[in-house]
Amino acid sequence: MTNEMETAELQLKPRAVIKQRQQRQQNRSVMYQRIVVKLGTSVLTGGSPQLDHPHMVELVRQCAELYRQGKDIVICTSGAIAVGRHRLGFPNIPNTVTNKQMFAAVGQSRLMQMWERYFEIYGIHVGQILLTRADVTNRRRYLNARDTLHTLLDNRIVPVINENDAVATEEIKVGDNDNLSALVSTLAEADLLLLLTDQPGLFTADPRTNPDAQLIPEVNKIDEAVKALAGGSVSGLGVGGMATKLQAADVARRAGADVVIAAGSAPSVITRIASGESVGTRFPALENPLENRKRWIFAGRKPKGCVVIDEGAAQALLENGRSLLPAGITAVTGTFYRGDTICIEGPDKQELARGIVRYSSGDLHQIAGLHSDQIEARLGYAYGPVVVHRNDLILL
Ligand code: GLU
Repeated sequence: MTNEMETAELQLKPRAVIKQRQQRQQNRSVMYQRIVVKLGTSVLTGGSPQLDHPHMVELVRQCAELYRQGKDIVICTSGAIAVGRHRLGFPNIPNTVTNKQMFAAVGQSRLMQMWERYFEIYGIHVGQILLTRADVTNRRRYLNARDTLHTLLDNRIVPVINENDAVATEEIKVGDNDNLSALVSTLAEADLLLLLTDQPGLFTADPRTNPDAQLIPEVNKIDEAVKALAGGSVSGLGVGGMATKLQAADVARRAGADVVIAAGSAPSVITRIASGESVGTRFPALENPLENRKRWIFAGRKPKGCVVIDEGAAQALLENGRSLLPAGITAVTGTFYRGDTICIEGPDKQELARGIVRYSSGDLHQIAGLHSDQIEARLGYAYGPVVVHRNDLILL
């Protein structure tokens, strides 16, 4: 990568994201750019014990329409366990963790075949990412998962994401794909999370038992009263219900995404919501998403070490909104690993900023002062040109 390209990429991306979000907050008609579509098992099966293939094709058609408009689409798919069970002919075996993992292993590959086949109709490539909780909470793995996701999106590949149910046991699972999709929205820096389910949205009472129940079009605060409306409902074959959708909405809107809960069976539901139409229940993103996202990232993290930077790099960070490159680093203290939080000190040893570091202290001792395009030659590998990305940095 040339120097010019590095600089252009580093300058453009975060600013473009901030500007676009500011525009969106001012004017809803500037529509979403990066959309996570979470499809519950009940949506993919239409409530039956097997995949509803025509409906999947229809959902893909809508995603392809948005993709052609230049939008980034991320699919968060459920259904692996249900599909595996169907594929193996509903064997009469105990519902143990290992048996469910077997169903997930069989079902996931089948599910993926279908996504691949249906996106192929529109000439769109898909890429599978299977996550567990550790991939989003463990600092090193968080960066790896995020890099992979962004690389797919930068190359116009549609990531198809599920929990890695075949190996994830309860203690390392996110557990439901509502919460998983909120974490994916955060990783992807999405501006819309669509939670598609078998309900048209959040109601003032349970619509199945109360004929006076009304759909709530917009929720601005997820408080106890709103949570009480969700009850403990679980939809069909899936794990989640309205309660997990509210948890997911709360996480994703703090990270800067509008969240909409809507029925996956509503006509053209994805394209209509993406163009700003009021369908289902919308939870608007909290203001200042980038800062919120950072706060979320930094919550509870203590710096594991420090780097000292020169005057030029300090100016680039403080005044020009740039990322930290190895060239500006003059000293490294402490022992830290890729993904740890570190403090960044100016030439006078005053802390200027805090950020998530992409290289370990051992690596930084070797590449401090070097130009970014020398990283790979020195280390034998590279995680990209920056040491701390602008988006992973808070100025103090
Ligand atoms: N990951 C599960 C599956 O693919 C679904 C979890 C959920 O329904 O939320 O079967």
